Amino acid sequence: MKITDILKSRDITVSCELFPPKPGGTLENSKKVVRDIAGLTPSFMSVTYGAGGIGSHNTIEIANEIQNINGVTALTHLTCVGSTRKEISTTLNKLTTCGIKNILALRGDFPQGNAGEPGDFRYASQLTEEIHRSGDFCVGGACYPEGHPEVATLQEDIEHLKIKVESGCQFLTTQMFFDNNILYSFMFRLLKSGIDVPVIAGIMPVTHPKQIARICALSGTALPPRFKAIVDRFSHNPIAMRQAGITYATSQVIDLIANGVNHVHIYTMNKPDIAGDIMSNLSEILK
Ligand SMILES: Cc1cc2nc3c(=O)[nH]c(=O)nc-3n(C[C@H](O)[C@H](O)[C@H](O)COP(=O)(O)OP(=O)(O)OC[C@H]3O[C@@H](n4cnc5c(N)ncnc54)[C@H](O)[C@@H]3O)c2cc1C
Repeated sequence: MKITDILKSRDITVSCELFPPKPGGTLENSKKVVRDIAGLTPSFMSVTYGAGGIGSHNTIEIANEIQNINGVTALTHLTCVGSTRKEISTTLNKLTTCGIKNILALRGDFPQGNAGEPGDFRYASQLTEEIHRSGDFCVGGACYPEGHPEVATLQEDIEHLKIKVESGCQFLTTQMFFDNNILYSFMFRLLKSGIDVPVIAGIMPVTHPKQIARICALSGTALPPRFKAIVDRFSHNPIAMRQAGITYATSQVIDLIANGVNHVHIYTMNKPDIAGDIMSNLSEILK
């Protein structure tokens, strides 16, 4: 099923993101993660893609596992930075062979300190057009409620987002955010600019203090005082931090749904137990 049809046909959707095995990890372990998360019956599951093609084979393998073995619609991320048109075409052919219809088209980033060859695509919007030219795919894209780190102003980012939507991006998944008001003002800016594709709010449950510094350094995401207080108070106690992180993420989701943001994507970090606790906290809300 296409993601756009899933979003249209259900009042509320909760989907889950996972990543393919990291160096040193095994495909068998990742398949178990897929099974466990699929057992939570999310609306769909997405799988990330290593920019520059790193880990791309496993991405397709995991997407196949999600959809064809576990029966949950898969959304495959695909990055274009450093890729040639021919490489993208090969990947799209493999996805078609597996029956994968949904792609999150991304630019990606070169690993730090490794600029690499530029490739045939500069922006995700160009990849979006290429995917549509290549077949009957449903294509989504990324968006940044606090602005992408490379832009000078939020308005500039929205203008670029508009180009992405005009190029065929049919839904948007947000970067994580910890203050729902940031998402609400972003939604208002989208509305004002005439961007009317569905927006899926990305929620990251932070259950380990080490995650926090990394998240902020990589994405520039702001930490509201309410969240900082939780980290200060509980970060020395892993069990308490886990509980507080799950509760914080749950309360963000409840507030979003209460305010009409009905599509939520959980960044599971391959932790089915954490995604499971959030889902069970929402059991009556999702009925
Ligand atoms: C939901 C989500 C999932 C992600 N999944 C992955 C993943 O699986 N693998 C991975 O490697 N990374 C992933 N990322 C990270 C992403 O690749 C980076 O944030 C990257 O820096 C930008 O990718 P993009 O697709 O948003 O790029 P783009 O939409 O191309 O935007 C990149 C920058 O260029 C600007 N821009 C866009 N179009 C134009 C234009 N026409 N003219 C001038 N400037 C323009 C934008 O404002 C932005 O600053 C994900 C991010 C999100 C939010």
